[in-house]
Amino acid sequence: MCLFCKIVAGEIPSTKVYEDETVLAFRDIAPMAPTHILVIPKAHIPSVDGITAENSAVVAHIFEIIPAIAAQEHLVGGYRVVSNCGPDAGQTVNHLHFHILGGAELSTQMA
Ligand code: 5GP
Ligand code: ZN
Repeated sequence: MCLFCKIVAGEIPSTKVYEDETVLAFRDIAPMAPTHILVIPKAHIPSVDGITAENSAVVAHIFEIIPAIAAQEHLVGGYRVVSNCGPDAGQTVNHLHFHILGGAELSTQMA
């Protein structure tokens, strides 16, 4: 089981900020902004490269939930959503996740 599947299963603890049947959001263990949350599908999808017509409904659902999480976290000044895909992007956990970064003015450097 991958690290984030273990978090979904409760085998590794996490600080949850949102959960429903198909999606989990929790605080990043090494925050890169004052607010740094990871939003993941509970089902294992390795990365953005693994999104297909069969499983993309959960991705749409994630993007419906993200604004609600941002509101809950009072990210009134805005926020950034990032998904690293593959080694060139520095993906370290091979379970699809979307970073929500906010709570301060972020770097304008995207890469
Ligand atoms: P990636 O580098 O793959 O885009 O993002 C993986 C993220 O997962 C990193 O920001 C890292 O800090 C976070 N992370 C790694 N292990 C854990 C963990 O055990 N718990 C939590 N909450 N976050 C983790
Ligand atoms: Zn997984």
